[in-house]
Amino acid sequence: MFDTTLSEAVEAFLENFGKALEDGDIERATELFQEESYWRDLVSFTWNIKTLEGKEQVAEMLQRQLAPIRPHSWKLAEGEAPTEEDGIITAWIEFETAVARGYGLLRLKDGKVWTLLTTMAELKGHEEPRGFARPLGAKHGAGKNRESWREEREREEAELGYRSQPYCVIVGGGQGGIGLAARLRQLGVPTIVLEKNDRPGDSWRKRYKSLCLHDPVWYDHLPYLKFPDTWPVFSPKDKIGDWLEFYTKVMELNYWTRSTCKSARYDEAAKEWTVVVDRDGEEVVLRPRHLVLATGMSGKPNIPDFPGKERFRGDQHHSSQHPGPDAYRGKKCVVVGSNNSAHDIAAALWEQDADVTMVQRSPTHVVRSDTLMDLGLGALYSEQAVQNGITTEKADLIFASLPYAILHEFQIPLYEQMKERDKHFYEGLEKAGFMLDWGDDGSGLFMKYLRRGSGYYIDVGASQLIIDGEIKLARGQVTEIVEDGLVLEDGTKLDADLIVYATGYNSMNGWAAELIGQEVADRVGKCWGLGSDTTRDPGPGEGELRNMWRPTQQEALWFHGGNLHQSRHYSHFLALQLKARQEGIPTPVYGLQEVHHLA
Ligand SMILES: Cc1cc2nc3c(=O)[nH]c(=O)nc-3n(C[C@H](O)[C@H](O)[C@H](O)COP(=O)(O)OP(=O)(O)OC[C@H]3O[C@@H](n4cnc5c(N)ncnc54)[C@H](O)[C@@H]3O)c2cc1C
Repeated sequence: MFDTTLSEAVEAFLENFGKALEDGDIERATELFQEESYWRDLVSFTWNIKTLEGKEQVAEMLQRQLAPIRPHSWKLAEGEAPTEEDGIITAWIEFETAVARGYGLLRLKDGKVWTLLTTMAELKGHEEPRGFARPLGAKHGAGKNRESWREEREREEAELGYRSQPYCVIVGGGQGGIGLAARLRQLGVPTIVLEKNDRPGDSWRKRYKSLCLHDPVWYDHLPYLKFPDTWPVFSPKDKIGDWLEFYTKVMELNYWTRSTCKSARYDEAAKEWTVVVDRDGEEVVLRPRHLVLATGMSGKPNIPDFPGKERFRGDQHHSSQHPGPDAYRGKKCVVVGSNNSAHDIAAALWEQDADVTMVQRSPTHVVRSDTLMDLGLGALYSEQAVQNGITTEKADLIFASLPYAILHEFQIPLYEQMKERDKHFYEGLEKAGFMLDWGDDGSGLFMKYLRRGSGYYIDVGASQLIIDGEIKLARGQVTEIVEDGLVLEDGTKLDADLIVYATGYNSMNGWAAELIGQEVADRVGKCWGLGSDTTRDPGPGEGELRNMWRPTQQEALWFHGGNLHQSRHYSHFLALQLKARQEGIPTPVYGLQEVHHLA
């Protein structure tokens, strides 16, 4: 088919669909969906992050949302031509609602919706001051005693939180809190970020010395300000720390360092939080309308309580506290766990001539970094993708347009290719006694990340050390810690001067329990995971990541986090939800998160 024909086909579809919606004719609108179809909405229709599966769920949503949302003006996105592959027509689209402009991606099969992504791009009347609307900066003309930019900033910093209250407080100033605060600043939402560390970026700096990002630069950009073209593909952790610090300054964030959130209470009547902060020794009480916990999905260490720990005479710590290998040259080191941190730490210890044993307790998914870049991410996040016109923003939307319910179906063939490509590598690992897995359904790394946030290693070299027997391998559960080592369930004793517990992290609602109280943490329920009914992700299916970036069962409490890609992409939608509330724009939430699991 020629492009013009494709364009006409999509335009005709959009006209039909748009007209049915404007007429309030839900039956006609849902008739335009395939029996098996997915409509993923990021805020524009549902004021939520929600996937609707099949006609019935689409109809239910429209019954509730059509009247308040009032969608209209559906069209092909400016400058974008639809494409066709394997009978699927794909088109970038634009639309409007009563209060917002939307952008989306449509996939048609036999003239009907197979997948539809609708996203809120901006709120009408509250657009970011970009392009033609960018601020002048200078104040031309003359005026007595007028403030310079610096004086204005200093005044704002001195007053916010004392003489005036922020609308939003973000607890946690890692990349998540920083990116969200940058977006809220552009939207004019007064915000304070609380960070207990001394400097922005410290959450990366404090991690083990050898750490470099596992994801490539194209995946990692922060909102508004991309890494320069000369930036390395895999950023060393201290370099990312410095970038975050610089970003915080140039994006003019109200970022309180050495500021620990001690507690937070919500007053249902006043619709206001009371947030108690220790700001460098001084108690400050903040009263925001909204509270965002950006305290890190990999922030609350899961430290196993093995019997006998107190007896151990050497050093023992969780991977998040591991200082690096320098003090352990020539020592006997045991790393409990076999995921990313365990491998990175074990390899760095080996480089310092330590005698290293990794204790593998359950099978781990391993994928070589090069292979993952080529087959897993290359089409969307790579130099080639940039050359092909796939901007970060487009890549994020394409990624978001694949509903979680069927994402594994797209992933399985990729991981089958990886298995084939690196056949000898995997044979070597198995021969060394390493227990491998590919996820319960063979869908690999990204699904494991979404489902359970753990269970994998992106190989940057440690696997070869295991294959060569340079990093020794022990298998099974730890039953006891003794004075000079640990004992496994089969009775094996491992001598150790150092034990590193690379045992992962707990659900983010643990932060809510700590700062707000167990009752609120339980009301909100588990964070993260899709309810895929696979290992460590119990059902029922949720369709979306639990509680992330969307309204929770606790009014005015939000969770933000994830990897750099997720923090960048979803902070946009969280920021719009907060801005709408600040402006008093009605935000009728459809399908509020139900709670099936507490942690
Ligand atoms: C070893 C490791 C490697 C990783 N590699 C990658 C990678 O390659 N690519 C990628 O995209 N992601 C990676 N991640 C995952 C994720 O991107 C990082 O964990 C990232 O730091 C998450 O950012 P965040 O802002 O959500 O949380 P964090 O960076 O954990 O920030 C949370 C912040 O909250 C602060 N805080 C907590 N409680 C309070 C309180 N009560 N008051 C004030 N402040 C508080 C903490 O000090 C911390 O600075 C990795 C994670 C780990 C652990």
